[in-house]
Amino acid sequence: MCVKAGIKSSDIYSISISGGKVANVMITGLFPFCRCVFITDGVLANFSAEEIESLLAHEIGHIKKMHLWGYFLFSICYAFGFVPLLVYLVGKFPAIEDFLMENKLASPLWVLAIIMVYFGAIFGLLSRKFEKQADKYAVELTGNKDVFISALRKLAKINALPKKWAKTEVSQTHPATEERIRFIKAIPWNIAV
Ligand SMILES: [Zn+2]
Repeated sequence: MCVKAGIKSSDIYSISISGGKVANVMITGLFPFCRCVFITDGVLANFSAEEIESLLAHEIGHIKKMHLWGYFLFSICYAFGFVPLLVYLVGKFPAIEDFLMENKLASPLWVLAIIMVYFGAIFGLLSRKFEKQADKYAVELTGNKDVFISALRKLAKINALPKKWAKTEVSQTHPATEERIRFIKAIPWNIAV
């Protein structure tokens, strides 16, 4: 599958979490030489070979679409883009600056709120977009929507994920399972990697 995707193969490690009650596959490593894939024992015990392949294809999608680099740049941008921009804007509006100076509790609360917005809401938005891109890539690479959908349903069942997010979707890193399935079903089939 790595050959088909045109990437260097990575080491794959099996990890045990909560006695097989957690099903997850994740990839780490910005560069090919340090890239690793982790598969929990919950996946190995409950998923077919084809389903595992489809989950690996999703992880390959994260590599092909440069998502790990996207997350890296997102973190860098906090320190060197987002925070300086806020400091600049606060300086532009003396009323806000005065409020922050006068209310000793306000500053730490503002910092906390800003961190929550950046690494909660904005990160969640970015992450959900990346997940959909990786889902699309997975079905393009494997050519099998049904197997990937089956794998997603198993992930949701084993990890006890809700079918839909409530009002808290803004902070979720993944779209809800039903939303992902709806998205996959809507992908046209005249696709090729
Ligand atoms: Zn993913």
